[in-house]
Amino acid sequence: MKERIISGNRRALARAITLVESVRDDHQQQAQALLSDLLPETGKSVRIGISGTPGVGKSTFIEAFGKFLTAQGHKVAVLTIDPSSKRTGGSILGDKTRMEELSRDPNAFIRPSPSGGSLGGVARRTREVMLLCEAAGYDVILIETVGVGQSETTVADMVDIFMLLLAPAGGDELQGIKRGVMELADIIVINKADGDLIPVARRAASEYRGAVSLMRPKSKHWKPKVLMTSALEKAGIDTLWETIGEYREARSADEELTRQREEQAAAWMWAELGDTLMNRLKSHEQVSVALPRMEADVKAGLISPTAAAQQLLAIFLEK
Ligand code: GDP
Repeated sequence: MKERIISGNRRALARAITLVESVRDDHQQQAQALLSDLLPETGKSVRIGISGTPGVGKSTFIEAFGKFLTAQGHKVAVLTIDPSSKRTGGSILGDKTRMEELSRDPNAFIRPSPSGGSLGGVARRTREVMLLCEAAGYDVILIETVGVGQSETTVADMVDIFMLLLAPAGGDELQGIKRGVMELADIIVINKADGDLIPVARRAASEYRGAVSLMRPKSKHWKPKVLMTSALEKAGIDTLWETIGEYREARSADEELTRQREEQAAAWMWAELGDTLMNRLKSHEQVSVALPRMEADVKAGLISPTAAAQQLLAIFLEK
């Protein structure tokens, strides 16, 4: 399977993804063994996060951007993180009709969000799918998210560059954007800058430039940029790609991007440890018996939360 994935066989890649997304223990073991084997082949892509509220034009944008990239000889994988997404019996609701042109492109690979589960679980599977896609030779990975819960932070924590797509309208309150999400953005893209919307888009761009200049930059070497695109007219995409290049170059100074990836990998390990321990704890027989009563006692003020936690841990560690 390893060799077939590396050679770019799409069916092998799809089968590997199925293993990664499976909850069966034996599948998980195979998936982890495969990922270990493939690890030296990973990490060679540009990892790009794309966020934006529904209707801002993410699918249209990703289709235009993806086609632009494949026309330049890149191989593009599009992954989605949406913990609220539902899939029934393998057929994907809603997602298949999106990005129709890109999905027919032999140099593009589109994978919708793994269904169900916690954001942590969805994120883990998406990270692993990203590694598989890298091993299969995809050199640009786009990870899309709709702003639900903490999903923007989750995506920002697994990519090199995080882009926020905004509508050509003023005011982040108006657009329902949280300050924290603005601060994650390395590039802000005002989409739908076409036709009658051009003046509004210009105003929005200058407003956001002002807002961004007041924020403390995440990087020593990069100040967030505000650009305009029209996904519909495929305008501004080339400038955006150039800007991504500038970003990567700027942040290669002092190996900033490399260090970011190292930190992300370490954080991933800790998250994995935390999730696994928590799951084991909750499924531990005696703990799961004691938990509801403890929780009720904590709520009733009969025992302090710390003491309750310590007692539960004692039960867990006793075995
Ligand atoms: P998503 O929900 O963020 O994925 O948004 P879609 O890509 O589905 O787009 C929502 C609507 O905005 C659709 O009707 C698109 O045709 C339209 N749209 C997307 N991009 C543009 C653009 O650049 N200009 C204009 N005028 N409309 C756009």
